Amino acid sequence: MPSGSTPNGHVANHAKAYLSPQQAMAELARYPHGDGLSLEQLMNSSKFGGLTYNDFLLLPGHIYFKASDVSLQIRVTKNILLNTPFLSSPMDTVTEEKMAIALALHGGLGIIHHNCAPEVQAEMVRKVKKFENGFITDPICLSPKGVVGDVLDIKANYGFCGVPITDTGKIGGKLLGIVTGRDVQFRDPEAPLQEVMTTDLITGQAGLSLDEANTILRDSKKGKLPIVDKNGNLVSLVARSDLLKNQNYPLASKVPSSKQLYCGAAIGTRPADRERLRLLVEAGLDVVVLDSSQGNSVFQIEFIKWIKETYPSLDVIAGNVVTREQAAQLIAAGADGLRIGMGSGSICITQEVMAVGRPQGTAVHAVSEFAQRFGVPTIADGGIANIGHIAKALALGASAVMMGGMLAGTTESPGEYFYHEGKRVKVYRGMGSIEAMEHTQRGSVKAKQAILGSDNAATARYFSEADSVKVAQGVSGDVADKGSLTKFIPYLYTGLQHSLQDMGMKSVVELQNGAREGTVRFEFRTASAQMEGGVNGLNSYTKRLFA
Ligand code: NAD
Ligand code: IMP
Repeated sequence: MPSGSTPNGHVANHAKAYLSPQQAMAELARYPHGDGLSLEQLMNSSKFGGLTYNDFLLLPGHIYFKASDVSLQIRVTKNILLNTPFLSSPMDTVTEEKMAIALALHGGLGIIHHNCAPEVQAEMVRKVKKFENGFITDPICLSPKGVVGDVLDIKANYGFCGVPITDTGKIGGKLLGIVTGRDVQFRDPEAPLQEVMTTDLITGQAGLSLDEANTILRDSKKGKLPIVDKNGNLVSLVARSDLLKNQNYPLASKVPSSKQLYCGAAIGTRPADRERLRLLVEAGLDVVVLDSSQGNSVFQIEFIKWIKETYPSLDVIAGNVVTREQAAQLIAAGADGLRIGMGSGSICITQEVMAVGRPQGTAVHAVSEFAQRFGVPTIADGGIANIGHIAKALALGASAVMMGGMLAGTTESPGEYFYHEGKRVKVYRGMGSIEAMEHTQRGSVKAKQAILGSDNAATARYFSEADSVKVAQGVSGDVADKGSLTKFIPYLYTGLQHSLQDMGMKSVVELQNGAREGTVRFEFRTASAQMEGGVNGLNSYTKRLFA
């Protein structure tokens, strides 16, 4: 018989005086610091080793609000406020204009890569800045000298055939007519468009609102509305089919004064990058990212000072850094934001090859803790593989996360889908991979020639430099199709709101204050705790992340 039990099995009451339920809250006073560890204790708990996201958890807080009430608004640089803490990496398999537009519409910020000619990068920036929801600013156009077969090809390739006809065959040319499906039906494919196009046009004037365009389309019963400037030149096109599926984007990242989408772009720290930056600024750039794995260099420090003198209103995100010492140098030079991460990227072999870097959790905490004293926001870059990692990066002090692999493989990332071992995938590669560097060499040579002319001495210097041995710091691979950002970002956003709700935090700002003050509590996770926290013991399972 177990001690304390009576022969009939009842537990004997040893007259222990239990506290009343009403005393439960007061009893907590015996644990003034709460369960778990403060952020400082967590970081010191592993004195001789750095931590990363999987090494710890946050303890739950008290929920007194709906998840949808959680604010994810953050400051990504000293001057730019965003409604979501999501940035896309400046990588040629992650961010071009389609990604930058979609991410900005959902409240984040796209950083356009620089593995292309400066003019090409500037054009991408221009497209983001000119983007107006519902207005197609780069419609496919044809010239009157085109033929019916050209329109049929467009229909076969893109699925539509309402094509504006301009004198130049391009946007910006004088609008002469429009060709619709009916105009080309049963016509000889060789017939010139001049003969078949509709010239009795209903147009909208540049500057009209989407609502006004909608009304004109509805009243005229047309499928497409060309928008022209005062000289009759085509500036954009509105399609009735788009209006039907037009969404509202209440979180969109917009410059308060112009209402244009925010756009970021990356550059290097070579002398030629000054000319590149001039083109980007001309295109309307809001924030430049100085793209380097090791930001604490004289090249970058000089570059920041030069940018701040030359373009005082342009925000500069400097980096990458992982230590307070690196951060101090870049803050002193004038950085408006810092990008943290060395060797943490999913395609990265930097730590393996260079023996330099830092576990990302420790890096984010150290740099953010230092930078926040100067009002300089930080961005946790690399190693984000799920919503939990985002929540942890924010709890460690980063204002935002930068994602490469998470956003690669979406409809909006550059590149075509293909099948690999039965899976639909897109290429995702490190910017320090041999594949990307070989592309850089080709792209940059073109760019150099465009700017300097091929006989220039600087071009010759550039060619000789390109002959040197390239040491890879990244790999090239592929990632699974993740569908469109229109579903994926709302999944990240809603998931993050639920995560903060579990912590009892109504905003990112509250979370970061709580972590600094010690009211947000952390727990170190042993290897077996990490196993316990993952799916285990199942014969097989499917992992669907959102519906
Ligand atoms: P980088 O341009 O900083 O460095 C390349 C080389 O050029 C370095 O040796 C650097 O010292 C030198 N350099 C830079 N400016 C110079 C100047 N003005 N004069 C003379 N030399 C100069 O680029 P990187 O660090 O090799 O990174 C390349 C790409 O790969 C970037 O997109 C980067 O984000 C990515 N990457 C990132 C990580 C990471 O852990 N975050 C690691 C490796 C690579
Ligand atoms: P991910 O989100 O884990 O896939 O990491 C993306 C980040 O990896 C980028 O934002 C860069 O900081 C970094 N990165 C990009 N290219 C390379 C590379 O070739 N080697 C190492 N790191 C890279």
